[in-house]
Amino acid sequence: MLNRVLDYARAHRDEYLKDLLEYLAIPSVSAQPDRARDVKMAALWLSGHLHEAGLRAEVMPTAGHPVVYAEWSGPDHHRPTVLIYGHYDVQPAEPFELWHSEPFRPVVRDGYLYARGASDNKGQHLAHVKAVVSYLRAEGTLPVNVKFLIEGEEEIGSPNLSAFIAAHRDLLACDCVMISDGALFNLTQPVLTYGLRGLVGFEVQVRCLDRDVHSGHYGGNVQNPAFALAQILASLKDAQGRVTVPGFYDDVRVLSAEERAALARIPYSDADVMRETGASMAFGEPEFTVNERKGVRPTLEVNGMWSGYTGPGSKTIIPATAHAKITCRLVPNQDPAKVIRLVQDAMRAAAPAGAEVTFNDARGTPASLVSLDAPQIQAAARAAAATYGNPPFYELEGGSIPVVHDFQSLLGKPIALLGFGLPDDNIHSPDERFAVVCYEKGIEASIRFIAEL
Ligand SMILES: [Zn+2]
Repeated sequence: MLNRVLDYARAHRDEYLKDLLEYLAIPSVSAQPDRARDVKMAALWLSGHLHEAGLRAEVMPTAGHPVVYAEWSGPDHHRPTVLIYGHYDVQPAEPFELWHSEPFRPVVRDGYLYARGASDNKGQHLAHVKAVVSYLRAEGTLPVNVKFLIEGEEEIGSPNLSAFIAAHRDLLACDCVMISDGALFNLTQPVLTYGLRGLVGFEVQVRCLDRDVHSGHYGGNVQNPAFALAQILASLKDAQGRVTVPGFYDDVRVLSAEERAALARIPYSDADVMRETGASMAFGEPEFTVNERKGVRPTLEVNGMWSGYTGPGSKTIIPATAHAKITCRLVPNQDPAKVIRLVQDAMRAAAPAGAEVTFNDARGTPASLVSLDAPQIQAAARAAAATYGNPPFYELEGGSIPVVHDFQSLLGKPIALLGFGLPDDNIHSPDERFAVVCYEKGIEASIRFIAEL
């Protein structure tokens, strides 16, 4: 059965690629209110596709963007059920001028498919959909029951997903969860992720005046909020990149020598960071390696900042306000609410006289650790080894998938995190891409995983 399904998928690779191109052309940017219709369109496209493939599929409302749910179950009730999670929403594509082709007119160049959402995450979850399609078309059946939960708010922090999972626990009941929202180490080296960082974030506003004023009339006599914000932000880290917020590292686990040795075996270095990002050097806590900083150390970053006039030419004002978006990546044992409080307290304390500091939009998810012993995780490891030619690396991942924590606490089942992309897919950046071969291998890995279960 396995070989017939694999052959079917290989014979239909052009059709499967065409479908992905169509899906990627829908600009489902969840963060932008004027794209709400497109987000809905993507949900309808996907559920239509799953329905056509023979699954029971529906678009289910939430307080925000809808969830696409689909399932296929076999006649006997003893077979295992796998829940496949993904997200059909994408990051904003701005700045458009840095793309070499239009982000929502997908094209294939040199073996890569370029489009916003290609790797994060439409290409990766559609690979699972195509694996299921291949079984149903080639064999008319699947050896397991399959459920899909594809949400539309991952890129804005999944604000409504835990409520959705909590309200639909029976519907989502399963034996394991499969998530492909990450990367291989390279085309012949898969990675199974066993830890994900958590995330907290908020926006800060510094106000010094009740409106923008003339910089000649008032310059030298009032506090400038852009300077005040710069002072506040500069106080949060030392020159070597250590976070100086009191208590910030208090709950962070001390790494065992064993863990350090395991992380040191992953061949990823300062040079790789430089090559992948264009940075002139790797930068961060000097006591730790890049692998350690990425997996087991928390971060504090500014994601954006703005103030005053930024249009063409000059405008001689002192702005009334300055703003920044702040996020921290968290590691196991750090409490999101506590980290938000510590950072905000430090920012208030660092505010110069005459600057009023306020915060909004605070949100957070803790980090998670996954057990590697479960038979379903071992099934994923065997599928990955057969597809890519090597047994997987076991890695801690720097990113955050809030749903992993929800799945752990609400469903309590093993979660396999097996990424199908590559580290230089430019996710969240201009020229996001997904290698066509990664899509095809992803479909194969998913077919094999279903067989191994
Ligand atoms: Zn993303």
